[in-house]
Amino acid sequence: MPRLWRGVHTTHNRQAKYGSYSIMDTASSTVLDVQLIQSSEVANSNAMELAGLQQCFRTLEQAQIGVSDVVTDRHTQVRAFLRTYRSLTHPIRHWFDVWHMAKSVYKKLMELGKKKGMEEAAMWGRSIASHLYWVASSTPPGEFRAEQARAKWVSVCNHITGVHTHDSEHFPQCLHGPLEDRIWMIAGSKVHKELEAIVKSKTLVKDIAQISPFDQTAEVEAYHSLVCQFAPKFTHFSYSTMKIRLQLAVIHHNANSGRQQAVNAAGDGRWAVQFPKNQGRLPVARKLKTRQTYGYVHDLMQEVIDLRMEFDSYSRARASWDAVAPRSSKPLIAEEGRPSKENVVASHQHRYSQH
Ligand SMILES: [Zn+2]
Repeated sequence: MPRLWRGVHTTHNRQAKYGSYSIMDTASSTVLDVQLIQSSEVANSNAMELAGLQQCFRTLEQAQIGVSDVVTDRHTQVRAFLRTYRSLTHPIRHWFDVWHMAKSVYKKLMELGKKKGMEEAAMWGRSIASHLYWVASSTPPGEFRAEQARAKWVSVCNHITGVHTHDSEHFPQCLHGPLEDRIWMIAGSKVHKELEAIVKSKTLVKDIAQISPFDQTAEVEAYHSLVCQFAPKFTHFSYSTMKIRLQLAVIHHNANSGRQQAVNAAGDGRWAVQFPKNQGRLPVARKLKTRQTYGYVHDLMQEVIDLRMEFDSYSRARASWDAVAPRSSKPLIAEEGRPSKENVVASHQHRYSQH
């Protein structure tokens, strides 16, 4: 009987040359697999995402690890793949990452706020994005989770006009207490209508039903910055070097993912408040952890000594190295077919048009 894991799929693009894709178990923050895909081998960046996810799933299958829940962004191809995969194997719940959803709403509100007479939309941007995090974390799983989450989400359109009771059995009124005076938006004003169009957009409201109850934003971010330390973004690495650097990042991450929160002299947990740039500088409270461990370095050194004893000539060592560190993600081509020239050309043009 396979164990069930909650996995999260994360992406890490660098100069569009490679994409690295990881599956993290959200309960333990352990990275279970990492895959490196070369952009030259797939049609476009969305296809790269999908290929990464498929390969990670293959690894889990080989290890006989079952998946109960998957958290991803809202890409169409990923959604389609998981729908089919679900029906082929056992049921998998597909959730959407809160961070991706909040970022997308926040960006749209800031864009709207740049327009003349729409400045108020930008002033509410952070609160509305934070509200989405609250919707995700405060709505327990159960029969009416989707309805409750949707009702909570759209209630923010009333809240910003100073109205705190809502026409919904699932969320009849805001849960905050009395609020201090503030400038509310005028209900029905042009800016309110435009803002409402963003918050209540059909696709977004539909997708709220799948908003992830697992918030692993901090762990994923810590992992991504670790990957950047092991493989700096603007340094070129060959495929095999890149892959090994990623694997080192995973080893370091997993060796340290179980670290406890550090405590002060009084025995209270230590916290830090940060304002990460990629979250629109929204404040995020983080637990300060105990010191990092590097015990794995000793194990790696021992491995080097063992390999030196095992392979007594350069050519034998080289042959073994080539077997474990392929120079490209070739199996993808063999299994899924090389992308057509048209697709490759189209994807190049697409990338150039973004600059
Ligand atoms: Zn309210």
